Amino acid sequence: MDGIRLVSQAAEFAARHHAAQRRKGEAAEPYVNHLAEVAALLAGCRSPSDAELVAAGWLHDTIEDVGVLPAQIEAMFGPRVRSIVCEVTDDKSLPKPERKLRQEQEAPHKSEDARLLKIADKTSNLRALILSPPATWELARKIEYVTFAQRVVAGCRGLSPWLESQFDEIAEQATRQFQKSV
Ligand code: ZN
Repeated sequence: MDGIRLVSQAAEFAARHHAAQRRKGEAAEPYVNHLAEVAALLAGCRSPSDAELVAAGWLHDTIEDVGVLPAQIEAMFGPRVRSIVCEVTDDKSLPKPERKLRQEQEAPHKSEDARLLKIADKTSNLRALILSPPATWELARKIEYVTFAQRVVAGCRGLSPWLESQFDEIAEQATRQFQKSV
């Protein structure tokens, strides 16, 4: 399948499957906005852009959040896209603290594609935390999330200076903003 077709089909598939989902922030944006942001970041980190990586960006939460099966992703988008999405999917049978710890510990051992996707995902999450934080999150929880994201991204570096700078910029902004209000 050609690249534009692959990415467009991934975007359509993700939009349909996440249609009922909203982001956690107070603006309750459609969840698809997060996926579009991650996909756009991934499109910018390789030149020429890598269609399978961008498609994986659109699809990265479909297994974890809406129960799509890996086999379905493989049948529609191929084995590489399936493999990237599986690599960034948390094991939901584990308690949340354990899942977060595993994200940190496993990040350096992931494939290059999965590490780029992790940085893009955390960049989008930090942007959202600044622009539209969840109403119930105390300041300490926001600060904890920023340091958690930084620890995960520390294990993903060395592949795309541009993408890392996108993350570093937003992480610095978040740190400044949240520390100031302590
Ligand atoms: Zn995500």
